[in-house]
Amino acid sequence: MIKERVSTSPDERGYYGKFGGAFIPEMLYPNVEELRRRYLEIMHEAAFQMEYRDLLRDYVGRPSPLYLAGRLSAKYNTRIYLKREDLNHTGAHKINNTIGQILLAQRLGKRRIIAETGAGQHGVATATVCALKGIECIVYMGEKDIERQAPNVARMKMLGAKVVPATSGSKTLKDATNEAIRDWINNPVDTHYIIGSVVGPHPYPDLVARFQSVISEETRAQLKEKTGSELPTHVIACVGGGSNAAGAFYHFLEEGEVELIAVEAAGHGIHSGMSAATTQLGKPGILHGSRSYVMQTEDGQVVEPHSISAGLDYPGIGPLHAYLFDSGRATFLSATDDEAVAAAFELTRLEGIIPALESAHAVAALDQLQLNEQDTVVLCLSGRGDKDMATYMRVMEGGNI
Ligand SMILES: *Cc1c(COP(=O)(O)O)cnc(C)c1O
Repeated sequence: MIKERVSTSPDERGYYGKFGGAFIPEMLYPNVEELRRRYLEIMHEAAFQMEYRDLLRDYVGRPSPLYLAGRLSAKYNTRIYLKREDLNHTGAHKINNTIGQILLAQRLGKRRIIAETGAGQHGVATATVCALKGIECIVYMGEKDIERQAPNVARMKMLGAKVVPATSGSKTLKDATNEAIRDWINNPVDTHYIIGSVVGPHPYPDLVARFQSVISEETRAQLKEKTGSELPTHVIACVGGGSNAAGAFYHFLEEGEVELIAVEAAGHGIHSGMSAATTQLGKPGILHGSRSYVMQTEDGQVVEPHSISAGLDYPGIGPLHAYLFDSGRATFLSATDDEAVAAAFELTRLEGIIPALESAHAVAALDQLQLNEQDTVVLCLSGRGDKDMATYMRVMEGGNI
């Protein structure tokens, strides 16, 4: 396949090819426009960069290690490096973005933060940085998710956030997002909305990708030191909305010889009706403010997705990924719930690392690649598995997952 050379940034209006843009109700226009006008200028300020870098180092614990996984490599007869986002403070890559956005919000003069969360991972990462900065934090969460994710709800409350249940629709992430948007419309002046992935209206996909791009920036330098070359042959990452993948791919996007592999959640199987493999099942459409691939019915109703991992249980993908899929720059694979669980146990037994269920989808995809001893593979281990122990325990007890 001939791979198109792609650029890292969207155009003026937030388009990556025909995906992206800002499809928002008129009442949100002032908020989004203020952010669009100012985000690049603020992010490029020396003082901003210094504070962001200092916090990533001393608070988050960056750079995250690039670990040569010896026994996993031996199994696939290749060299596999794990980018250890699981070792970050709060246990995943999400904090790279929330640290960046809280600093942005401060410089925009905002005194109140809102966020939406599904499983609570983004809610915890947001509540954490609000505690760090002493800023009011309101997290919208589906009523059903509040019941299912008690430990993360407790963390957010301990961190001082107010967790507001979304009681409409399916009482899950999509409904929490609608509530957050409603809040933002009602509080346009003093509130910043921290979106947790490379989704939403322009400029969110670009600004979240830039904050997460520290992953591939570090990877290049670490690879150079370890192997003599900055470029791997493959980069693999799981995709929910696509923020850890965007960060892991970012500084390799224009290096055509690096194969980029995105792994979606196939749930019970792509065609089972219980899946979240958006590129395989979706069609172009508009979801949460931008044009991308969306899982939808013939008449455009968003289809309820399924994945064992809450972080991948989303019916869309960010517009950058829609573009990478369409242009052929990235290869999209998928792993089922069962394959991800098996990969999680395998990584644990081979390396002593219990991965998040989301990250385990990327590990599972190794089985689908033809790798050899000449290859250098970077796999983004987006998070750790502590939050998934209830699922892993059910597996060990031989129950249904
Ligand atoms: C939220 C989450 C994801 C999925 O989000 P992306 O924006 O696609 O990265 C993946 N892994 C972990 C550990 C998460 O918490």
